Amino acid sequence: MDAHPYEASLEVQKVQTQSQQLFDRARAVTPGGVNSPVRAFGAVGGTPRFMAGGDGAYLTDVDGNRYVDLVCSWGPLILGHNHPAVVEAATKALRSGTSYGAPSAGEVELAEEIVARIAPVEQVRLVSSGTEATMSAIRLARGYSSAVNGNSTGRGKVVKFAGCYHGHVDALLAAAGSGVATFALPDTPGVTGAQAADTIVLPYNDTEAVKAAFQAHGPEIACLITEAAPGNMGIVPPRPGFNRFLADICRANGALFISDEVMTGFRASREGMYGIDGVVPDLMTFGKVMGGGFPAAAFGGRADVMAHLAPAGPVYQAGTLSGNPVATAAGLATLKNCTPDVYSHLDVAAHRIADLASEALSKEGVPHTVQFAGTMFSVFFTGKPVENYADAKTQDIKAYAAFFHAMLNRGVYLPPSAYEAWFVSAAHDSAAVERIAEALPHAARAAAAAEKS
Ligand SMILES: *Cc1c(COP(=O)(O)O)cnc(C)c1O
Repeated sequence: MDAHPYEASLEVQKVQTQSQQLFDRARAVTPGGVNSPVRAFGAVGGTPRFMAGGDGAYLTDVDGNRYVDLVCSWGPLILGHNHPAVVEAATKALRSGTSYGAPSAGEVELAEEIVARIAPVEQVRLVSSGTEATMSAIRLARGYSSAVNGNSTGRGKVVKFAGCYHGHVDALLAAAGSGVATFALPDTPGVTGAQAADTIVLPYNDTEAVKAAFQAHGPEIACLITEAAPGNMGIVPPRPGFNRFLADICRANGALFISDEVMTGFRASREGMYGIDGVVPDLMTFGKVMGGGFPAAAFGGRADVMAHLAPAGPVYQAGTLSGNPVATAAGLATLKNCTPDVYSHLDVAAHRIADLASEALSKEGVPHTVQFAGTMFSVFFTGKPVENYADAKTQDIKAYAAFFHAMLNRGVYLPPSAYEAWFVSAAHDSAAVERIAEALPHAARAAAAAEKS
């Protein structure tokens, strides 16, 4: 026997006793047994794995099974699990108290780092989740637009794209991607007709649809929000010039352009998608990577717009744990350790894994499309290029479920939905990639079999 370090866990992983027991207990006390829907494996079936630990590129579940993690907490863990610098920064902060409810130096340092990196961000407000960031940015955009346009009834409408997910903000849950896509909820109960009516949902990458919407509703539109490169229906890069077109048409109509970089920020490149296409938005939103695995997020942008935010201005926004000292310390340590080397490693690892997946699927004749936005990628189970949500929905979900479980059984944890990006980290080294390479042919065969059934 060779002495592979992960020898034991390279075997097909069958034991799920503890996960099953925890899932049963969880379902008794938590709706669906999880605290965020996609985690329940609803789209792929089977028992969600309850995790006990993370280290580098690996996750270990409560039954002792070890997985190469291609979810990375849905993006935040760009340096891998338990990165020593992040753990040290968070631990040091923790020893000085968990929360002050008063300003602290860490908040200033994290804000300075974001402002220094992302040129369009002149001022930034820290919050605790991406949802809060987009919700607050929309409120600010509405307050600002109504004030500067002297419109006493206010500008209420928000333009968004089908398949873009901006967190579970009421007004933004129309035709959202991510979990909403996974569970095929066209709309969600609990959002009022009035909130939905203020949201104009358009097909992504469709300039004509955007022009028509501004033609019909221009003076009522407060803002347009888009993912800088959609990652919540899988990765769908903007067509060349699309983001610039959006910025221009917003400006021409007195509406604010909000670029949601909660997923792409500090990941697609050092400066996110902004670093790739250079399009200057009025407001931007961040989360995931900037929290280093803790609840920290932000929205920011033009100083004259941000000046409308309380206490500087009239638009109210607040948070008990906003700028939490442990989260800001972890976030700052993460950003400081995201060196150019980290981004080139992510780029190489992402392309390598994407190539391996594509080779394995091609060999078995499984139709698929790999798409990138900077260092981010996803594998669509459709042969057709994906330019919008309608294209993404042509995927063979059954084939993905079979593929997912075959990978899982061989120790690779993929997103439990075909509508998500695959995330790599700086800790995904050649051993981790090798393990993915070993699992892929089995998974491709399983996908091919599911397709024929
Ligand atoms: C994850 C995500 C959000 C929501 O962030 P949460 O921290 O989960 O609330 C918003 N926008 C985009 C683009 C995201 O990927």
